Amino acid sequence: MKSTYSLFIGGEWKESVSKRWMNVIDPATEEVIAQVPDAVAEDIALAVNAAEKVQPEWGNTVASERSKILLEAAHLMRQRIDKLAKILTSEEGKPLAEARGEIAYAASFLEWFSEEAKRIYGDLVPSSSASKRILVIKRPVGISAAITPWNFPAAMITRKLGPALAAGCTMIVKPSELTPLTALEMASIFEEAGLPKGVLSVVVGSDASQLGEAIMSDFRVRKISFTGSTEVGKILMRQAADTMKRISLELGGHAPFIVFPDADLDAAVENAVLCKMRGMGETCVSANRFYVHQDILEQFVKKMVEKMSQMKVGNGLQEGISVGPLIEPAAVEKVERHVQNAVQKGARLWLGGKPLENTTGYFYPPTVLSEVKEDMLIMQEETFGPVAAITSFATEEEVIARANDSRYGLAAYFFTRDVGRLFRMAEQLEYGIMGANDGMPSTAQAPFGGVKESGLGREGSKYGIEEYLDIKYLSVGL
Ligand code: ADP
Repeated sequence: MKSTYSLFIGGEWKESVSKRWMNVIDPATEEVIAQVPDAVAEDIALAVNAAEKVQPEWGNTVASERSKILLEAAHLMRQRIDKLAKILTSEEGKPLAEARGEIAYAASFLEWFSEEAKRIYGDLVPSSSASKRILVIKRPVGISAAITPWNFPAAMITRKLGPALAAGCTMIVKPSELTPLTALEMASIFEEAGLPKGVLSVVVGSDASQLGEAIMSDFRVRKISFTGSTEVGKILMRQAADTMKRISLELGGHAPFIVFPDADLDAAVENAVLCKMRGMGETCVSANRFYVHQDILEQFVKKMVEKMSQMKVGNGLQEGISVGPLIEPAAVEKVERHVQNAVQKGARLWLGGKPLENTTGYFYPPTVLSEVKEDMLIMQEETFGPVAAITSFATEEEVIARANDSRYGLAAYFFTRDVGRLFRMAEQLEYGIMGANDGMPSTAQAPFGGVKESGLGREGSKYGIEEYLDIKYLSVGL
């Protein structure tokens, strides 16, 4: 790994205008692993200037040309998977096997959108006048920007950059200040893949609100795509109003995971652990509340404890580790607050329950709680940690009402072998992504996104590219 990185602005590798630097820390060792320029608003302006210059030309390229570059970038990512995964684990903490999985997942968005680039169809609409023709054409929205989180340092970028480039948009990426290295490595991959100068810039700094404002207040940026907290999403949505930017928001979640008595219990437990523990529970689609039917509660809890107790906690770069550190001390404090609050209010603790002691790194072990109640913090706020909070229910009607009683609406999971129930659940649950007998539904060809305060718009799939396209209507008199 390099120890000093540069920003990627307008096709050049640069220091920040500020001349300041910031540290990147490995959450498993608490050591500084690299230094990155600490960008400010002027760096964003330089990136937008560069994008403005190249946007007309890039927007007029033929689809096959853009497709080729995306495919080449996907290929290079796969070729360098070992190096990229190691960097990703070092700055984010997830175990190496998961980091490799993320790089492959990230590359799959580039591949998918390299194909979708060729399928941006317009329409010819039947006219009510014999002397007129009605055409619908699609054009890139123009300069776009992405603000991305730390929990998927590669995939949250390609899920936005893939469709933006495929549509013919330029993009300024502002990755999380906690995980800038993977983002900058990817910029160099795009450079190598032949992306024209200025089409992509990657700008990162410690003052996220300054950089955010610089992006949001610039009229030339016509589209913003954000993944992160609902709190910041609301700020961006307000800021977007001033320049009427197109906006996609993929925000927080509080996913229910429901197990009916007719479910395949072993499959439910296996998926529950996967869904809960992927990325140490630090994903927006992680199960946050488990509703298990009262008749199978005891068996479910026993099996969950058994599986979760076998998971090995440690530095994700080491062999055999399945639970890495959380991202920062504040993350550990939040998980601790949720667990303590639940225990104080009467939840039963089966496993884990406090941060690892006498060790460096921000570690919190797999934790299982049962008898959780609606008035506990863990049932209301996103925990973002390796804690399975389990409660029971009696009827389908009851569990639907409890699952929907949230301001969030991102992902929901349910396990049942009853086909009628499966469709009733899918129709009644107020969530954008549902896994029926599936704890890992995310994939490039399916639409990802939430309802209610979990956000707006969809990423991935044939729908994802529409977020970067304007519909134009052309009426032709003969
Ligand atoms: P998380 O809780 O996942 O860290 P955040 O919403 O805080 O989520 O961060 C997601 C992204 O939003 C990061 O790139 C972060 O730097 C950025 N960010 C944080 N605050 C702001 C802000 N006020 N304006 C724009 N971007 C912000």
